[in-house]
Amino acid sequence: MNKKFKVIPPPFKIKVVEPIKITNRATREKAIKKAGYNTFLLHSNDVYIDLLTDSGTNAMSDNQWAGIMLGDEAYAGSKNFYNLEKAVKEIYGYKYVVPTHQGRGAEHLMSRILIKKGDIIPNNMYFTTRRIHQELAGGIWMDVSIAQAEQPENWHPFKGNIDLKKLEKLIKKHGAKKIPYMSIEANINMAGGQPFSMKNLKALRKLCDKYKIPIMLDGTRLVENAYFIQQREKPYKNKSVKKIVKEICSYTDGTTTSGKKDALVNIGGFLACNDKKLFTEAKSLVVVFEGLHTYGGLAGRDMEAMARGIYEMVDDDHIAARVNQIEYLGHKLLEAKVPIVVPIGGHAVYLNAKRFLPHIPQNLYPAQALAAALYIVSGVRGMERGAVSVGRDPKTGIERKSKLELVRLTVPRRVYTNLQMNIVAQGVIKLYKMRKKISGLKMVFEPKQLRFFQSRFKPLKNKLIG
Ligand SMILES: *Cc1c(COP(=O)(O)O)cnc(C)c1O
Repeated sequence: MNKKFKVIPPPFKIKVVEPIKITNRATREKAIKKAGYNTFLLHSNDVYIDLLTDSGTNAMSDNQWAGIMLGDEAYAGSKNFYNLEKAVKEIYGYKYVVPTHQGRGAEHLMSRILIKKGDIIPNNMYFTTRRIHQELAGGIWMDVSIAQAEQPENWHPFKGNIDLKKLEKLIKKHGAKKIPYMSIEANINMAGGQPFSMKNLKALRKLCDKYKIPIMLDGTRLVENAYFIQQREKPYKNKSVKKIVKEICSYTDGTTTSGKKDALVNIGGFLACNDKKLFTEAKSLVVVFEGLHTYGGLAGRDMEAMARGIYEMVDDDHIAARVNQIEYLGHKLLEAKVPIVVPIGGHAVYLNAKRFLPHIPQNLYPAQALAAALYIVSGVRGMERGAVSVGRDPKTGIERKSKLELVRLTVPRRVYTNLQMNIVAQGVIKLYKMRKKISGLKMVFEPKQLRFFQSRFKPLKNKLIG
């Protein structure tokens, strides 16, 4: 282990346990074949350690579970809604809050309200659901992230930054009127869980003010981003994560946020903003797609759990231990020279499949193959983030080129111990040693939207691991 690496102890103990099955290789081989070599199609009881996603897989605290019992299931005006509204106002600082069943519900509302056909929406890389809602609303997604975001071996500390020159060029080319808002994601998932800096955000604010373009934040992993700012940006060294979160939001005009990540719940999300007109429209539209504006598709108890999770997520000891667990796993892999994305991300370790399996060309989906092979060898479930996830260009139907070809090992919050992280590392290292035996995959079924969820594959040869 890297000598400089220190384990940060988690600020909790375990009160309830959930049994999981120890699986064997023969049953896993059958299970992945049945699942069309797509880890999304596996049954969760065939998985030993589930690192598919950190979305909705969090362990709630005793305080959150107590809140579940206090669910007020009134159709209108549930007290839990007011608690949620208060939590969002207090921690994020936005004026208005509209609850939604999860993040994409909020993305749908915001995109529908703000985007007109042919509008340009600049983004720092893409997130699958965020981009598809921009496109379904008639918008054109454009990437203005810095080039380092797509360089897995580059140790740039803020790969989530916006390339301001690229953005200004885009604004000048299309005109500010064509740009309803700048979309910025905290701790960008697709780059490997990488933050933007406060310095970059402040400069972005200045530029957007010059052209009167609002900034909308994808706040799904805002707390992890704030933690990296505290650790890596000198002026913030002694500031609490809670204060940094609020400062980030103060430079933006609104957010769509999935509560299923940072906010430590299993379901929930919201749209929040400072503009009354946007709020009024979102409040009327949420009724059509999600539910009344005081529940937005959520049960009262779910809103209560999210309200409580929002206070817990900004605790410095919690977030430090959370990110440290991912760094723990990452350092173990780095030590064994396994190619991973650096710096180690805030919610996941990403295996670099292009370098792990250089013998598999990208049209045979090396990351998809790697995720399936890891499951077979170790019972650990990760997911593909590469050629399958990027999908096709909506206009031409041609497969988009993916510079990154990754397998994401996403760590749920407060769920696994470092002993289980050791087992994950052992599985990956074992697979790395036999990497030449892994073959590519052919896609045999492709759904129309977000194909990575349901597409099916077959190994090129008879067996995936020959
Ligand atoms: C998960 C996620 C979303 C979508 O949220 P859901 O709750 O899954 O609908 C949006 N943006 C980012 C960055 C995410 O990670």
